[in-house]
Amino acid sequence: MPRLTTTTIGSLFRFDDDLQKSISKAIAFQREHGLDILSDGEQRTDMISYFAESFDGLRVESGTPVVSGRISLRGKPEEFSKVQDLEHIRRSHPHLKDIKVAITGPTTLGMTCGSRKIVSHYKNIVDFSLYQDIASALAPIAKAITDRGAFVQLDEPFLSQGYKDLRERVELLDLITEGLPRERVSVHVCGFVGGNGVVDRLLALENVSTLSFAFAGRTELRNIEHVSRKQFEDADKQLGAGCISVTPLSEPEVHTPTQVAAKLKEIAGKVGRENIAYAHPDCGMRATNKSLVPIILDNMRAGVDLFG
Ligand SMILES: [Zn+2]
Repeated sequence: MPRLTTTTIGSLFRFDDDLQKSISKAIAFQREHGLDILSDGEQRTDMISYFAESFDGLRVESGTPVVSGRISLRGKPEEFSKVQDLEHIRRSHPHLKDIKVAITGPTTLGMTCGSRKIVSHYKNIVDFSLYQDIASALAPIAKAITDRGAFVQLDEPFLSQGYKDLRERVELLDLITEGLPRERVSVHVCGFVGGNGVVDRLLALENVSTLSFAFAGRTELRNIEHVSRKQFEDADKQLGAGCISVTPLSEPEVHTPTQVAAKLKEIAGKVGRENIAYAHPDCGMRATNKSLVPIILDNMRAGVDLFG
């Protein structure tokens, strides 16, 4: 079998003050470290703020995005920052095939902005129409991404926290991705996914081919008990396998290639090697100690090679 494909979850440290240079450097960095599916490295501030620039109903107040009214996409999807960044990558690296663009999912985006402040239109943070409106605004963006031949990854870390209306929240992800080529659509949920039936709910998604979970960090170790070959095959899903922690504090804490290979073996033992879409670090690495990021990526790649 060919070696496992590798990718990141998206975010990396900022490379340059100039955004376009920063994205180009992020691409070069990922190539240097042997990654197969590349991302823009989330070089625009955090994963939330740029939505305020393009969404009516979201604005930034003293540095934090809040809900200011009814949410909708302002302008055309191709004008959205992440789509612009994708076009920049396409223009400057025409030879690159596999690019993945991560966008924040409706629950994570709505909870992050709405928990700070809701100025008008929505009753409160549990008003489901807030999340429906975000999903409607995200749909044309997801389409613009796959229309440009890229993979789209919906980031929904908040879903692991458990919600009474989890089913409806997960179904919003199908709404966003309706009609898109499912082999290009993934959902990333980090943290512990073993509670509240999160995995089963996600497996029921129709328009998503790949579910990406973390297995290497301390709180994610037990995720392995909640995935199986049968459930992935029955649901026609592939697994994005988080196989190295992104939270080491010093070099000796970075998982070694041997540990990564052992983790992948454990995961493959549960879901089947052929059901692993790709190996990736547990989560984004914006908050990871900058000096350790190259070591994490090199050890991951060496671990993938060792796994064979
Ligand atoms: Zn994550």
